[in-house]
Amino acid sequence: MILKPRYESLELELLKYLYKRMNLSEKDHLNYLNLNKGFIGEQHFDEWLHHLPDNWLILNDLLFEFSHSHFQIDSMVITNSTIYIFEVKNYDGDYYMEDDRWFSSSGSEIKNPILQLKRTETLLRKLLQDLQLNMPIKAHVIFINPEFHLYHAPRNQPIIYPTQIQRFFNRMMTTAASNTSSRHTQLAKKLISLHIEESPYTRIPEYTFEQLKKGVICARCGGFIGDFHKKLVICKCGYKENASTAVLRSIKEYTTLFPNNKINTNAIYEWCKIMPKRTISRILSQNFNIIGHGQSSYYI
Ligand SMILES: [Zn+2]
Repeated sequence: MILKPRYESLELELLKYLYKRMNLSEKDHLNYLNLNKGFIGEQHFDEWLHHLPDNWLILNDLLFEFSHSHFQIDSMVITNSTIYIFEVKNYDGDYYMEDDRWFSSSGSEIKNPILQLKRTETLLRKLLQDLQLNMPIKAHVIFINPEFHLYHAPRNQPIIYPTQIQRFFNRMMTTAASNTSSRHTQLAKKLISLHIEESPYTRIPEYTFEQLKKGVICARCGGFIGDFHKKLVICKCGYKENASTAVLRSIKEYTTLFPNNKINTNAIYEWCKIMPKRTISRILSQNFNIIGHGQSSYYI
């Protein structure tokens, strides 16, 4: 049972929008690609979790602060006897280990995911002790991408390789009872209540409304839509969409990128660019409530 579902993070959503509308620096672009790849990997892992017994409690994307340290957990599964935590990695290609250090095939060092996992496990154990909710914890790094290979890894690492995932879950289901009790639900609820949301706005590049490229982005190809004709927007990829749906999607982008800006006809007209002001005005009045009159009116 999924008690805390996984969503695309706000940081990834913002970078996805900005990527289309401004030139990202190399660092921000790489961050966007990594976040996107990580999220795709986590979604693949979620497909495995769907097959677990319904009474096991699944919590995704947890972020805690404990004794002045932050730690995050990609997925947690609470069974009758054990808390499983998973760090999901969507690495592809060849990697190798030298002692405790990890390298990609090009020789550049990456963060050791096992050390990251052990830190998380230790902090979670302390947090549970603090709550007087002791349960055994089993922690694993899951490499979800079938294209991943790691050389020189000792056998006793808490690593699940792509070819082992099926067997790992089979074993997990035969060793843990499929029931849980109200004690487990209370533990899950307590952990969800301690989850913190971090604002991503400090980690993304600065941008202004003026600076961003305006237009409506095609839901199929991701390019900017060029034509508007008879209540339809028409992309050069051939995709046609109701103008209302396209504008509402653009407004979602606008309000996510500019949470403090008000929705009004002028701003959305400028943001979408390809259709007349009266069309924008009609779509806004059909889908939102107007507050105020004249120039200073806005929609919520
Ligand atoms: Zn298109």
